[in-house]
Amino acid sequence: MPMAEILDRLEAAYGSAVPRTRRPALDELVLTILSQNTSDRNSEHAYARMRERFPAWEDVRDAPEAELVEALRPGGLAVQKAPRIQAVLRDLERLDLEWLAGLPPDEAMRWLVALPGVGPKTASCVLLFSLDVPVMPVDTHIHRIALRVGLVPAGTSADAAHALLTAMTPPERMLEAHLLLIRHGRITCTARRPRCEECVLVDLCDYGRSLRT
Ligand code: SF4
Repeated sequence: MPMAEILDRLEAAYGSAVPRTRRPALDELVLTILSQNTSDRNSEHAYARMRERFPAWEDVRDAPEAELVEALRPGGLAVQKAPRIQAVLRDLERLDLEWLAGLPPDEAMRWLVALPGVGPKTASCVLLFSLDVPVMPVDTHIHRIALRVGLVPAGTSADAAHALLTAMTPPERMLEAHLLLIRHGRITCTARRPRCEECVLVDLCDYGRSLRT
């Protein structure tokens, strides 16, 4: 099933995707780690607090862990996230990731997921949002929709879905696709009770079609 058709329909239903704020790649990496298991609001608050107390990345890397935990507290799970962030920063030869844009996408992805605690979702957020590398970050909404529609085989994990969805999405529409699919997951293809009767993808969707038979 062509992804382009899906995107055209979602765009007609929800309007054009609004681009998100673009940040330097290292900022995006740390913010993505902070956003795990918390709301955007909390993670952005924790991020701002951390940058206020530790303005340079060297300061974050070398801070006493307890002080970083304290700065990150509003984001939740600060006790886990502070050492994770410091482990990533200590692993970097230089505190800048912009050079990754010059690598082929596969290589950039492999390099990022080799960092401690960085998985395909975090890596693809950094690549797509900050460096315009066309790879698809798969969050819980996109994973759910991909399985229901039948874009990926039943039982495909979110990690495995990254490569499959990247391959089937037109590179120039990757960011738009990511944003539109999340919108669709929040508004229509919700986790508990998808609104299939109002869905513009119903005739393209395995789950939606199964309700009609
Ligand atoms: S038809 Fe239902 S399950 Fe399929 S994409 Fe639409 S809301 Fe989701």
